[in-house]
Amino acid sequence: MKDENFLKENNARQLWHPMGHPRESQEHPPKIITKAHGVKITDIDGHSVVDAVGGLWCVNLGYSNDRIKEAVSAQMVDLPYYSAFAGSTNPAAIEAAYAVQAFFAEDGMERVFFTSGGSDSVETCLRLARQYHRLRGEPTRTKFLSLKKGYHGTHFGGASVNGNNRFRINYEPLMPGCFHIPSPYTYRNPFHETDPAKLAQLIAQSMEDEIAFQDPSTIAAFIMEPIQGAGGVIVPHETFMPLMRDICDRHGILMISDEVITGFGRTGDWSGARHWGVQPDMMSTAKGITSGYFPVGAALMSGKVAEVFETSGADGGIYHGYTYSAHPVGAAAVIACLEETLRLDTCANAGPRGTQLFEGVQALAQKHDIIGDVRGGHGLMTGIEIVSDKASKTPMDAETMKRIHQTAYEAGAMVRLGMHNILMSPPLTISEAEVDTILAALDAGFAAA
Ligand code: PMP
Repeated sequence: MKDENFLKENNARQLWHPMGHPRESQEHPPKIITKAHGVKITDIDGHSVVDAVGGLWCVNLGYSNDRIKEAVSAQMVDLPYYSAFAGSTNPAAIEAAYAVQAFFAEDGMERVFFTSGGSDSVETCLRLARQYHRLRGEPTRTKFLSLKKGYHGTHFGGASVNGNNRFRINYEPLMPGCFHIPSPYTYRNPFHETDPAKLAQLIAQSMEDEIAFQDPSTIAAFIMEPIQGAGGVIVPHETFMPLMRDICDRHGILMISDEVITGFGRTGDWSGARHWGVQPDMMSTAKGITSGYFPVGAALMSGKVAEVFETSGADGGIYHGYTYSAHPVGAAAVIACLEETLRLDTCANAGPRGTQLFEGVQALAQKHDIIGDVRGGHGLMTGIEIVSDKASKTPMDAETMKRIHQTAYEAGAMVRLGMHNILMSPPLTISEAEVDTILAALDAGFAAA
């Protein structure tokens, strides 16, 4: 590894960073994280903080899981790669698929298609949803419905169902046939409805209206996050996902639960859909599947979907996949990660620590006027919406957001900015004292606004 001066000099010079302006990174070089231990990360200057971001909503088990590290190292020695395209597989892939299916059996999932990450998993679900309907003799079902403020990755399909203009506008025209309905976002919604249960009903009606307008026989699937993550941690009322499930059923529309963040315990349940008592038809997963130790995702199919493919003729062939689908090293990471996730029962910790973080931020909202809305309370996903004026709900400016972020970092916690929101998703292994550290750092950050 090159020395510190080289790293600082070349920071963001050659490397274009995702989700930011290249010049902005050159002018304000990103923090260089060199080490991590437990739930703490350390930068090149030796400053250690609690990682309230969990990498990027993914490091569910913290950074020091030796079992995953050992499993990955051993697999790297035995078989660093072999393709899983028709005709070959590897032992780790077989075992990982078994483990993932068992993990989501209660959600009705029966088949596993491995990918390299969340965007790939979403793309897989969207494509297989269309194929499912073709196989059933309904080839006109090609359209997709999704929620505004939803985030489903950056491939063209995922970007087309994304509900945030920022991820869409520069890349248009996107995939035709994608339509969006309002989000269960009580703080801002077109109905000015602040009661979450009533808002759920209003959105259900919007969904019905859109389906009638499009004609149900043209719609392949509806995709949603059980709790919207990147959109600002938008927690729906408990009736919301069941209402959506019911509408999908009545119109023959597949429901895809995008569990890239909510899967593997983050909500305090093993899946977000289970948290709301729903069984989807497909699930897209990634992140917590390896706790970020290796880039892996998985698209999961229910028995209903699997049966259509498996009992079909030649058209049921899946001409879709990635060079790194069922990568042996990734699969080894999956096996170890799921074993550790269950052994540590991270789900059980996510609930109370999530409540502590949520209630702690609610208390800070009493003290700091810039906090417009606090969202969370369902596991370790917390969002804070920052405004410059509470009455008009004017979003806080970018410079102030950066100051809050930097002050919180100096005071002991790495948080994430999503426009004028602060997003938090720390490792599910976090302790009570470490949550307190995050809260104290936020307090300092808000004071500096
Ligand atoms: N879906 C959801 C719900 C996500 O949160 C993300 C990433 N944050 C993705 C899809 C895309 O995953 P990836 O960045 O691994 O491609």
